[in-house]
This record gives sequence, structure tokens and C-alpha cells, in this order.
Amino acid sequence: MAQLIADPREVARGHHELAFAWDGAAPLPGQFISIKVNEGSDPLIRRPFSVYDFREGVLRIVVKSVGRGTRELSRYAKGDALDVLGPLGRGFSVREGGSVLLVGGGVGNAPLYFLARALVAKGTAVTCVYGSRDAGQVYLSHEFLEVCDRLVITTDDGSAGQQGTVADLLPGVLDGGAFDMICTCGPALMMKAVTEIAVSRKVPVEVSLENYFGCGVGLCYGCTVDTVNGNRRACVDGPVMDGSVIRWDSLD
Ligand SMILES: Cc1cc2nc3c(=O)[nH]c(=O)nc-3n(C[C@H](O)[C@H](O)[C@H](O)COP(=O)(O)OP(=O)(O)OC[C@H]3O[C@@H](n4cnc5c(N)ncnc54)[C@H](O)[C@@H]3O)c2cc1C
Repeated sequence: MAQLIADPREVARGHHELAFAWDGAAPLPGQFISIKVNEGSDPLIRRPFSVYDFREGVLRIVVKSVGRGTRELSRYAKGDALDVLGPLGRGFSVREGGSVLLVGGGVGNAPLYFLARALVAKGTAVTCVYGSRDAGQVYLSHEFLEVCDRLVITTDDGSAGQQGTVADLLPGVLDGGAFDMICTCGPALMMKAVTEIAVSRKVPVEVSLENYFGCGVGLCYGCTVDTVNGNRRACVDGPVMDGSVIRWDSLD
């Protein structure tokens, strides 16, 4: 069980930050936790959430309310204990030195903050392209600004940062710097576009998949993705994978 150290805090429209006291294994950037959202059996299946940050015994996640489970999570209060498994899955490579470009979309920006902190601690330069639908859904950008060497915010409607999708802006950002690697998390269509651009520029790309998970521990095969190496379970073979091996059309 993991106890909330504060009430869930609304950090953007429909997005809450949950902070847990955490004495389990230390998570790696890109790993996720799996939460039983209530004490009953409905919903039965645990919900997966990427680690937004972990330090000094506190693990934070950012939850976007999209359905019953995520809405339920925002209703807990300081001191409540939740049934949390983790850390689970394979995380991002944390390069030492050089320059890494992070590309996030919506709630998919969450794991990139933890990754940015780990990269900076290893002396790696970090540029982050932070995509969102609109200004109201941009969360915790001040924390990204503190840690990244460069932060480019993009919104679909231009209400914050530059107007356009991250894929629109990516070629210009790549033209302006030399990057050893791209790490991305967001909707599948966005990551597919990012991967295509990365592959065309011969930059290695790691993607963190957020497709539907079942058990989250590799037993049910509910999160299987098609890759050039055969089927892989996103929960245990990922969620972070080499973007260039994924058959993206199978995720559309
Ligand atoms: C590895 C991983 C990490 C994730 N990290 C985060 C995170 O940090 N923050 C966060 O808010 N969410 C994250 N998600 C997504 C989150 O797990 C789902 O939004 C959540 O399980 C939905 O539960 P629900 O009961 O609220 O919605 P449901 O009632 O189950 O569904 C409500 C609506 O959301 C859609 N939906 C549900 N799950 C997904 C999904 N995985 N992808 C796309 N659409 C979905 C359904 O189709 C439906 O339209 C992550 C998912 C994965 C696999």
C-alpha cells in the first residue's frame, strides 16, 4: 500500500498530481506503477501510470481524468492508502553526456520530466518539445523549464507557446541542433510521426507506449504490439521500446 502525502492537486484542467510516500524499489525513468483505483472489484483491472518524479521517498504521478478509474483517483485525500504495484516495465536509456531531445504529447509529457532530471544529472543536455492541446492543459511547465536546457511548448490552437503539433515543429528543432537520441511519449499517432522523422534523420528513437494494458505484468497479453521482431508485450517488454522496430499501423 502507498499513502498519499497530500490531497490530489489540480495542475491543469482535468489533470491531478498525486504524491505517494514510497518505500519500495526506486523507479527508473519510463517505468510505471499500477494502481487499484478502489477497494471494490469494479473496476477490477489496475490502471497504469508513468512515474512523473521520484525523490526523497516521494513518488509523483500526473493523472488525466478520462474515465471512471482516473476520476476516482482524483477524489482521494491526504493520508489515504492505495494498492500500488511497481515500479514495472522497462524504462528509457539514460545517456551519459551528449544531447537528447524529449518530445511529449499531453499526459505523455509526464515521464519525460523524470527522464530529463536523470539525464541532466548525467551531464546530458536536454531539449524538450512539450505538446498540448491548449494552454489549459499544460501542466507543471515551470518544473520542465527549471530542468531542461531548452523548452519548446506547442499547442494545437496556439493558446500557449508556438502553434502546431510537435510533429510540425520537430524538423525545425532538429535543424537547429545535433541530437544523439530522441525519447518520446504521447498518443500513438504522434509517436509514429516522431519515429518517422527520427528514422529519416538517422537519430535513434525510444518511445513509451501507452496502449491499453490488462494485467500490467505480462500474463494476459492484452497490450501486445506488433514489431519487426514479432509480438511484444508493452507492459514487460516496454513500455519503452525502440520506435523503429514497431509496426505503427497495428496501433492505429
Ligand atoms: C504505460 C502507461 C503509462 C501511462 N501513464 C499515464 C500517466 O502518467 N497519466 C495518465 O493520466 N494516464 C496514463 N496512462 C493512461 C491511463 O492508464 C488510462 O488513461 C487509464 O487507465 C484510464 O482509466 P479510466 O478507468 O479512467 O478510463 P476507462 O473508463 O477505462 O476509459 C475511459 C476512456 O479512456 C480511454 N482509454 C483508457 N485507457 C486508455 C489508454 N491507455 N490509451 C488511450 N485511451 C485510453 C478509453 O477508450 C475510454 O474512451 C498510461 C497508460 C500506460 C499503458
